[in-house]
Amino acid sequence: MSPKKDVKKESSGKVDKVIDKLSRSLGDDKLSTKRADLLSYSHDYWPIYLHWILKDKYPSLPDAVAWPESKEQVKDIVRWCYRGKVPIYPYGGGSGVLGAAVPESGGIVVDLKRMRSLNISEEDLLVEAESGLNGYYLEDSLNEEGYTMGNIPQSLYPSTVGGWVGTKALGQFSTKYGGIEDMLKGIEVVVPPGRSIELKPHPRTSTGPDLRKLFAGAEGTMGIMTKGWFKIWPEPQKRIKISYASESLEDAVRSIRDVMRRGAEPAVIRIYDSIETKRHFYEYEDIYGKIATVLVIEGDEKIAKAESEVVREEFIGEEKGEEPVDHWLETRFNVKEAPQFVPMGVVFDTIEVAVKWSDAMDLYHNVVESIRPIKGVLFASAHASHFYPQGICFYFTFAGIPPRRKDAEEFYQEAWMEAMNAVLKSNGTISHHHGIGRQRRDWMYGELGEAYNLLKEIKDRVDKRGIMNPGNMGL
Ligand SMILES: Cc1cc2nc3c(=O)[nH]c(=O)nc-3n(C[C@H](O)[C@H](O)[C@H](O)COP(=O)(O)OP(=O)(O)OC[C@H]3O[C@@H](n4cnc5c(N)ncnc54)[C@H](O)[C@@H]3O)c2cc1C
Repeated sequence: MSPKKDVKKESSGKVDKVIDKLSRSLGDDKLSTKRADLLSYSHDYWPIYLHWILKDKYPSLPDAVAWPESKEQVKDIVRWCYRGKVPIYPYGGGSGVLGAAVPESGGIVVDLKRMRSLNISEEDLLVEAESGLNGYYLEDSLNEEGYTMGNIPQSLYPSTVGGWVGTKALGQFSTKYGGIEDMLKGIEVVVPPGRSIELKPHPRTSTGPDLRKLFAGAEGTMGIMTKGWFKIWPEPQKRIKISYASESLEDAVRSIRDVMRRGAEPAVIRIYDSIETKRHFYEYEDIYGKIATVLVIEGDEKIAKAESEVVREEFIGEEKGEEPVDHWLETRFNVKEAPQFVPMGVVFDTIEVAVKWSDAMDLYHNVVESIRPIKGVLFASAHASHFYPQGICFYFTFAGIPPRRKDAEEFYQEAWMEAMNAVLKSNGTISHHHGIGRQRRDWMYGELGEAYNLLKEIKDRVDKRGIMNPGNMGL
């Protein structure tokens, strides 16, 4: 990580004054400069950061942490930070995996979790949610009333609505319900120098370019989202679970492409390559060594049944019943690798990307083959977890132990560089749903070209003093 030293230098003289103003306007219980808080908020879930912490390295301490409870308080924070030119880092659950919430230039981390109200509009199939609302709490509250938002990321428990919009997240059931940007119907954001803007929820609008989209995926670089309005659905009447064992990844991928072409939209589709099939389905003898696919089809009973018929007509492979799907449903939130393996010196990460059908298999092979030859790599594998009529998301995992004379970060960055270059060479997009953060920023220009310069100009206009999450996404 290369901290933006210029921002830090300019801000540091004034940061104490801004902290003083804020502790008076917010109250002491909403602002902290305690070391324990600064350490806790110095990172998110970026895997390389875990290695630094274990070596007692904290390259990015903020100067203070704030916990606003209202839009007015958020406006106050932005106003004072703008005046003092002090960096601000919006913070939801801190479950981002790319260092997007890491306060690399010092300043104030703004944790939104105390802003967590929710209001369901049954007639309009909308939910209004403040940005700090926890994902699990939101979905659970909707389920109690007979609804779902259908956004179930693996990080449902630790993430927030503001983080979902910030990173353009999506969940395990996305092939039916879409990503958060499809659900986002309205948004309220505080932008520098401290004004609030509201884009109201409508079924659709053609009142100019859709500014909601400017904030979806902006990762805290354009403003602080305080509230959003999201599309919801009645809870599904029917759930159908199907699994397959196929002889080749190509067969399984082609089958799903044909299912999607016919307009069926199973909520969950996951195809595991042979390494991941062995890892996740080792208890199932007749799947082990093959390519596992699990599907969950849900919704209105008649529509779900029709979709399951389409799947059965198109799929190339042997049907294996509900059990592997139940196994996936039961284990889908288990994340034990980081605490288990990082202390043993294992470096790992996941890299999710998307690509059109015509380049899909090339991209898969190019990425795994670019990581595997790196000295120290134990494995590089993938599953495909989100699908569109136009293409597919591959979710790669790599793990390894750095060889002698290479430290964890060098090894980690080498794997990332190989993977990102292979994705660009294969006509893919470098991120499907985790976003950019600080880990992927060096490849933004490679994918966006001149459009990246336009994005920088927009950012400079919205955030004239460069206080909103400076350095994130390279902005
Ligand atoms: C085990 C695990 C599983 C995961 N599974 C998934 C998955 O299935 N799908 C998926 O999409 N992601 C997944 N992620 C990644 C992560 O959970 C998502 O990126 C999530 O959306 C981050 O939400 P958060 O509230 O934790 O945000 P944070 O990590 O706190 O912040 C993420 C970014 O959003 C910005 N931000 C946060 N709140 C606001 C706000 N109110 N206004 C403006 N900007 C804001 C931050 O500044 C930062 O740039 C996973 C992560 C882990 C650790």
